[in-house]
Amino acid sequence: MNNSGSADMLSSDWQELLAFDRAHLWHPYTSMTEPLPIYGVESAEGVRIRLADGRELIDGMASWWSVIHGYSHPRLIEALQDQAESLSHVMFGGLGHRPAVELGRRLVELTPAGLDKVFISDSGSVAVEVAMKMALQYHHGRNSSKHQFVTVRSGYHGDTFHAMSVCDPVTGMHHLFSEVLPRYHFAPRPESTFGGSWRSGELTPLRNLLAEHHGSLCALILEPIVQGAGGMRFYHPRYLQEARALCDEFDLLLICDEIATGFGRSGKLFASEHGSVSPDILCLGKALTGCMLSLAATLTTEVVAEMISSAEPGVFMHGPTFMANPLACRVAVESIDLLLESGWQQKVDDIERQLRQGLEPCRSLEQVADVRCLGAIGVVELHTPVNMATIQERFVERGVWIRPFGKLVYVMPPYCIGAADLDQLCRTLVEVVALEN
Ligand SMILES: *Cc1c(COP(=O)(O)O)cnc(C)c1O
Repeated sequence: MNNSGSADMLSSDWQELLAFDRAHLWHPYTSMTEPLPIYGVESAEGVRIRLADGRELIDGMASWWSVIHGYSHPRLIEALQDQAESLSHVMFGGLGHRPAVELGRRLVELTPAGLDKVFISDSGSVAVEVAMKMALQYHHGRNSSKHQFVTVRSGYHGDTFHAMSVCDPVTGMHHLFSEVLPRYHFAPRPESTFGGSWRSGELTPLRNLLAEHHGSLCALILEPIVQGAGGMRFYHPRYLQEARALCDEFDLLLICDEIATGFGRSGKLFASEHGSVSPDILCLGKALTGCMLSLAATLTTEVVAEMISSAEPGVFMHGPTFMANPLACRVAVESIDLLLESGWQQKVDDIERQLRQGLEPCRSLEQVADVRCLGAIGVVELHTPVNMATIQERFVERGVWIRPFGKLVYVMPPYCIGAADLDQLCRTLVEVVALEN
């Protein structure tokens, strides 16, 4: 690996690019006046990200859950090029195409039972908005006054307003947007951990909340098993099962947001499978195209779709310009086929085993509060937030791309990562966490 480069080896071209970037481009959740450094990326292949100064980093982030087959996979590139030559986009109003049908077929077949009606959109947050609209229109169709949502603390569902309204109110900074955000109901976060013992009475607060407010509640939305950006927590499958039962008892739809967990990340193809639960509405995104393009989907049942369609106005009220973009759909089809052919289950199981071993030394560090792994996700939780400026540089200097947030230092590599690279990722993480104070 070539790690001889450094910031002063940047070409003048790249110096100019990064100066413009710094002056004009927003990055996610950053300051425009005091941004942390941005590392220019020249290219990426497999599990390697090549920086503008020539350094190569082992990718531990999968570009936020999205990269499952590695970067620049030849089959995804070929599918994209081939599709671009015949049909890159066409409006989905009144027109249809093969890539959308092929993707729909696979999603209906692979996702939990009963999810047969597919709405294909362009990003995860939009898929959540679509899910929430479906729940509202379903209950509207039944002439009910159920139009409020309920969720659990520590969740994350996206950055658009309604998605944000069901994110954790503290980490989602609800007070900042209190003038415009709808106020929904929050039950405590699930506490019984995945693989840990079950604490009876876990759902009592949720039950009490539903018992009191069910007349106005249309749906419960949550991330099944893995709470992602809201805390990287893994909870007991029984919580999901009992939540499903409560939704049935109190006539709420269950929306499972599998935008992060879909396509194998948690060790099952979909995390809902850990509890053998079928939601009424399912959101997918992130890894859907193997990170080639942005695409998302919201699936629902025949019952929900029929109710939406039978009542005034007789249609589902959503239709983005780039709905079911053929390029993205075609790449998603290829990515799903690649996943199913790849022996992903074995790979994810192997990654989990190696993460458990490799991150274990963190447990004895005084900085560390918890170490947990599930599927191809490894999390080290510290007692206090990391210093982003120094920790980011330390990882890059050591040839890995790990981007912590708050107290959480975590890795979720592409499934194609080899044992030696994963070993280096884990060893570097342990070494750098030990330097935090
Ligand atoms: C990332 C994420 C979203 C939002 O997806 P975007 O494509 O960033 O809009 C929603 N829900 C969950 C669980 C996510 O991890």
